[in-house]
Amino acid sequence: MEILIAKNAGFCFGVSKAINLLFSLLENSENKLYTVGPIIHNDQVVDKLKSMGVKVVKDISEISDNGQVVIRTHGVTPKVYDEINEKNLTFSDATCPYVKKIHTLVNEKYQEGYQIVIVGDKDHQEVKGINGWCGDSAFIVDSEEDVLAINTDKEKICVVSQTTITKEKWETLNNYLNKKFENILKFDTICSATSNRQNEAEAVAKIVDAMLVIGGKNSSNTQKLYDICSKYCDRTYKIETSGDLPPMDIKNIKKIGITAGASTPDWVIKEVICKMEELNKAENELSFKEAFESSLVTLNTGDIVKGKIIGFNNSEVFVDLGYKSDGIIKLEEFTDDVEFNPQSIKVGEEIEVFVVRVNDREGIVELSKKKVEAMKGWDALVTAFENKTPVKVKVIEVVNGGVISSVSGLKIFIPASQISDRYVKELQGFLKQIITIRIIDYNKQKRKFVGSHRVILEEERQKAGSEFWSNVEVGKRYAGTVKTLMDFGAFVDIGGVDGLIHLSELSWSKIKHPSSVLKVGDKVEVTVLEFDKDKKKVSLGYKKHEDNPWIKAATKYNVNDIVKGKVVRLVPFGAFVELDEGVDGLVHISQISNDRIGKPADVLQVGQIIEAKITDLNLETKKISLSIKEVNPIPSPKKQEAESANASGEGAATEEEVPTEHKEEIQNTIGDVLGNVKIDAE
Ligand code: SF4
Repeated sequence: MEILIAKNAGFCFGVSKAINLLFSLLENSENKLYTVGPIIHNDQVVDKLKSMGVKVVKDISEISDNGQVVIRTHGVTPKVYDEINEKNLTFSDATCPYVKKIHTLVNEKYQEGYQIVIVGDKDHQEVKGINGWCGDSAFIVDSEEDVLAINTDKEKICVVSQTTITKEKWETLNNYLNKKFENILKFDTICSATSNRQNEAEAVAKIVDAMLVIGGKNSSNTQKLYDICSKYCDRTYKIETSGDLPPMDIKNIKKIGITAGASTPDWVIKEVICKMEELNKAENELSFKEAFESSLVTLNTGDIVKGKIIGFNNSEVFVDLGYKSDGIIKLEEFTDDVEFNPQSIKVGEEIEVFVVRVNDREGIVELSKKKVEAMKGWDALVTAFENKTPVKVKVIEVVNGGVISSVSGLKIFIPASQISDRYVKELQGFLKQIITIRIIDYNKQKRKFVGSHRVILEEERQKAGSEFWSNVEVGKRYAGTVKTLMDFGAFVDIGGVDGLIHLSELSWSKIKHPSSVLKVGDKVEVTVLEFDKDKKKVSLGYKKHEDNPWIKAATKYNVNDIVKGKVVRLVPFGAFVELDEGVDGLVHISQISNDRIGKPADVLQVGQIIEAKITDLNLETKKISLSIKEVNPIPSPKKQEAESANASGEGAATEEEVPTEHKEEIQNTIGDVLGNVKIDAE
């Protein structure tokens, strides 16, 4: 609020002169000081003077001592001067020179035979004083009725004015006088200090929202100022002191004007100004407070608002919301991510939060970021359900009958039957895995979703399967994953299609079960051996050509090489000896010993390491013939016994032939093992 102070507010020349005179007398005079009536129309000044010893009397007769009389600014009648003289009182005349001038003028014109007319207030001391200088014969007019009531036989009219009336009143009353009288001598004795003051007050009142007029309740010029200001400003207040200030709607007052009557002391004006400044300051502070508070965000429980992370600890995150209190997010309300690490929180990051609770009294604003994510997530998941859009989720819990996954703060149940396109016995393997699912059902009331990873896998398999069957060729290699192991082989997922690796195609060695080579889940490279698009069957090979031990044997072994091997199988016609894994040679029974032996088991044992000579090598038919006897012939048991007996003095043993009844069996077995190898029964 701007405070505009009229330039000439306060003591006028006449009042200043009177007050200075009194204070001077108070300092210097030894006599008691009296004023006949208040020296000016201002109670504060009069009271102050009273407190300093100046006594106010109604007339001179009240003065019984030889005190000193100070004549008031408004002036007095000649009669008062006479009374002072009669009582031999000393006096100081504080009559304003402008008023004194009117006294002289009126007295002169009265002496010249003029009918004196005074435009003013008949009850005002100044007017009474002026009237005294024409023998109290003046007509005092303040209205048209007063003018019409003038009854005089004098032809010459002399009109003067009270010093403090308005120009407007002066002119209006003279108009009335002009209508009634022809010979009028007019003296505009309005004090310039008064008219200037009134003009300034009018100018200020026109541009302000409120106007204060300060002055004594009996002050004529103050009343005139009030009347003028009221014309131009609806909110004009007349006050004597700052204590009279009315309640004002300061907030809606941008400008306030202050003027003061001619008898209003500076200190009273200053008090009013100070009070207004205080009110203004208080209002500004209030306005600032209101502005500050209005700049603050309004928060209500359930609102979703944006805020900036300003800090965090191990249990809470602090958020600046632009509200008078900072918001707090408990860590469990920050996110649903089970692997969330508070150290990943970024101070300064803007986030959206849900207002859980606002308690201004306690200065608490509880927030949840998780709920906002859940709300947004709900709509997103419903849309994903409607559009059948795949959703990436994280498995956070294994429960009875399935797993619970989470995305955007929402939990989605995935039944065990929907977690894979195959039967899964143990669900723990899915824990903490991120998988793609399709929302297959939801319940709005219970706010629950059901998802399926299986449908995604099936679709992927279907798509991959179509591509496979479009491009499959014998000999093409594929990467795959071992899915199941059966006695007869291993099924491998090669991307949308499960192919079978037969047991015989798993290893170059003879194996009894696929588990000796593979386990479920192994990543393998396989080769398409054959396929049937109609029956959707594909046979795969796992063992590699370069791993064929017979290929290696071709570079390793030659005829006549002396090799070591392990007896791995004994048959009636000989012994099979393993030279390398997957490479066996046959030692025919005739090549075991130089003696005649009944069966190989008589002289050899499975697991026994022997030395033999390669007598024949056919890698195409995978046949290696070995001879032990060409290296280190093993004696027959009889011979061994004879040698033992000789050593101990007993007779030597004789050779035995292969029993005739075994010859056919031997022939058949050799046929199985060696194909076209024949053995002579002789
Ligand atoms: S208002 Fe004018 S006439 Fe009255 S005391 Fe002041 S100076 Fe004198």
